[in-house]
Amino acid sequence: MINLRDFMVSHKTTIRELLVAIDRNAGQLALVVDSAGRLQRTVTDGDVRRALLDGMELSDAASALPPKTPWIIEEHQDPAAAHSLMQEHGINAVPQLDSSRRPIRMFRLSDFDAKVWLSTPHMGADERRFVDEAFDTNWIAPLGPNVDAFEQEIADYIGVSHAAALSSGTAALHLALQLLEVGRGDIVFCADLTFVASANPIVYQGAEPVFIDCEADSWNMSAGALEAALRLAAESNQLPKAIIVVNLYGEQANMDALLPIAERYEIPLIEDAAESLGATYRGRHSGTFGKLGVFSFNGNKIITTSGGGMLVGEDQKLIERARFLATQAKESAPYYLHKTIGFNYRMSNVLAGIGRGQLQVLSERVAARRSVYQNYKEQLSDIDVLTWFPDRSHSKSTHWLSAILIDDPTHNFAPGDLIDFLARHDIEARRIWRPMHMQPVYAHAKALSISGGMQSARHFSRGICLPSGSNLTDGQQQRAIDLIRRYFRAR
Ligand SMILES: *Cc1c(COP(=O)(O)O)cnc(C)c1O
Repeated sequence: MINLRDFMVSHKTTIRELLVAIDRNAGQLALVVDSAGRLQRTVTDGDVRRALLDGMELSDAASALPPKTPWIIEEHQDPAAAHSLMQEHGINAVPQLDSSRRPIRMFRLSDFDAKVWLSTPHMGADERRFVDEAFDTNWIAPLGPNVDAFEQEIADYIGVSHAAALSSGTAALHLALQLLEVGRGDIVFCADLTFVASANPIVYQGAEPVFIDCEADSWNMSAGALEAALRLAAESNQLPKAIIVVNLYGEQANMDALLPIAERYEIPLIEDAAESLGATYRGRHSGTFGKLGVFSFNGNKIITTSGGGMLVGEDQKLIERARFLATQAKESAPYYLHKTIGFNYRMSNVLAGIGRGQLQVLSERVAARRSVYQNYKEQLSDIDVLTWFPDRSHSKSTHWLSAILIDDPTHNFAPGDLIDFLARHDIEARRIWRPMHMQPVYAHAKALSISGGMQSARHFSRGICLPSGSNLTDGQQQRAIDLIRRYFRAR
């Protein structure tokens, strides 16, 4: 991502340094600032070209360039004003200045000419190299050195002993249930406020899901509801075979409270960390709290292999068995021998190459998403009907998606209404996950709450996810912020 800093040069600079800055930011513009950081002028590549043709040297001071009034917008102006200036004057970038003329952000033409998406793939510098290696060695499939290395690198990164690379996060969840011997007639507890992929594998196994409500503050599984559900289940001798806890939008579920409850009843916990790769909770990596942890590398996730998943855990036997089951449960024999029903769930060596490249930039991607969230929160802090997804001190969320609740007793604002408004301006926002107990496909499943009605349903009726990609530009996010502000002001 190009930062404001990439545009800025000191007023004492030379023509050569100006050219370097213009080249670096690809915006065909440099901002010349004085020692207090105030804008003196803008310089385009055209300005430099004309000056060189007029006989200036690369080593000459930039201050010798002919004076020019810069095109800028003021702090109180809408991003649309920057867009108009660009269109009128055929320029590619316009800075926004604060009241003392210090640049606070850049708008580029590309911020306006494309739709702003919720979350899109964001490649780094090395993915192609790992993929090329796979092509050069003809190690396209199956498995191969990228798969082995990707598993090891993920394990090292999050501090877990074993990892199996799979074709999707859903496959990883399915295998996790298989490994814990969940079968026909068994019960599995699952977080209610989540994506449907958390729950479907329970049904693949012929087992029955029971959905556990979320708590109001972390939006994740409520320890109180879990405890109540387990107590009831124990009374009727119907304890679950496993508990699937989800770390929603990158925020860790309350493991301090949930783990001891699961331990007391001796129920293994599966951690669906599809949205929280790179997050930590009390300094420990997300995905390492359960008996088994699951990650997803789907295209919209924090890092992607275009499609893929990973199953992690401390138990070597379980992870080795996952690899076995994921390759059609092929026994080691001189012919095709199968004693178990297996699956075709392994990750290909080409895709694992993408994953290795992506893993190298994971911490940058987490930092970028966190700063997108912070920026929304800071700039929209005065809109008092908004409640922000929690940012708790003992956990470091990935803020995979920046999520808000609209708490409006007057019902002037509605999530669907804001989403439509943003869509009309080419900005994609979405409702938060529709809870499992509200899905027609799970209409007959049990759901358990302790808060008098499902908290997840209350969140759903008010919640929105905003564009949150790590590749969102400053200007694009500002467009979204400006429109959200306009929406709440106009009604
Ligand atoms: C994305 C996601 C999954 C599924 O991962 P896939 O790789 O798309 O199969 C599971 N659970 C949650 C919470 C997710 O967000």
